[in-house]
Amino acid sequence: MAPGDLSHVFLADSGSISVEVALKLTLQYQGARGQGQRQKFLALRGGYHGDTFATMAVCDPEDGMHATFKPWGTEQVFLPKPPPARYTEAGFWDYDHEQLAQWESAARRISAQHAQELAGIICEPILQGAGGMHMYPPRVLRILRELATEHGMLLIADEIATGFGRTGKLFAVEWAQITPDIMCVGKALTGGYISLAAMLCSPLVVRGLSSGSETGAAVLLHGPTFMGNPLACAVAIASLELLSGGNDPRDDAASWNIKVAALQRRLRTALAPAAAMPQVREIRVLGGVGVIQLHEKVLVDEVTRVAVQHGAWVRPFRNLVYVMPPYECTEADIATLGTALVEAVRQIHG
Ligand SMILES: *Cc1c(COP(=O)(O)O)cnc(C)c1O
Repeated sequence: MAPGDLSHVFLADSGSISVEVALKLTLQYQGARGQGQRQKFLALRGGYHGDTFATMAVCDPEDGMHATFKPWGTEQVFLPKPPPARYTEAGFWDYDHEQLAQWESAARRISAQHAQELAGIICEPILQGAGGMHMYPPRVLRILRELATEHGMLLIADEIATGFGRTGKLFAVEWAQITPDIMCVGKALTGGYISLAAMLCSPLVVRGLSSGSETGAAVLLHGPTFMGNPLACAVAIASLELLSGGNDPRDDAASWNIKVAALQRRLRTALAPAAAMPQVREIRVLGGVGVIQLHEKVLVDEVTRVAVQHGAWVRPFRNLVYVMPPYECTEADIATLGTALVEAVRQIHG
């Protein structure tokens, strides 16, 4: 199912751990090719990659948990948050080209400036989730791919939230038709039923690692007790079969493809009534992701209470009320969710 030549798979017990493993592998790979001075990562502002120490260090430096654990974190290098993009009903990405050009020149400048100390780039493709449900143009990914190749860095795509169809592509990197060197998956790998994650990488990375015997271990230095847990793997296999529905997962007829397209259409309809409300800044729908962004901070307890009264439990944060519903949701389920969100925003932020 994975894009490009990501044929090597390392199972891990949670998303954060798979990112930890991706970071370790990148450092070991650089060491093996005599680039051990490359000890830092290039990350995007607004990003989220997990709750463990190394992953916290590549999360957004202000919104993340950096402040609380500052002495523990290694300083990383950050690119500005990519400019916003909206995926239109007509099926194209709408964004400010001037803003993107400015972002691109900053990205090129910062990468060149730090190239000698950077081991890899890490990003959440297309959708920055826990950092603010922020969607950005596919072109950003193509720029990151170019920068990684140009400066000898590995590109890590954290697809833990976006993987397995959530954004309308099987993997979000496919919006830009790029292949990362390393990819992390989790969450939907088991349909959300049990914890399992994986790090995938290309043969190039594996060969690079294995060639490093004189500089250190030629094997990946990670081996959690419960990696490849049989129960979790059985759930993952069952869930992946449901996703493809007996078809090629890349086929238009694949189950996820049909269901996510319907979900996108229904979410647009269900959330549309909020668009005219003065307190609503923007509505964003992409694949199975629906977001209402307010002008002000959400009153979480109040909004949650009204949503529950309307039959839906949601978990707003910052100025965002959002849903990422299961693909199995019916038209009626999405209508219920839409009403709950719209009513909660109308009653509490009206
Ligand atoms: C949820 C998430 C993680 C962390 O996964 P856990 O299984 O909670 O450790 C990392 N990256 C992204 C993009 C996520 O959405």
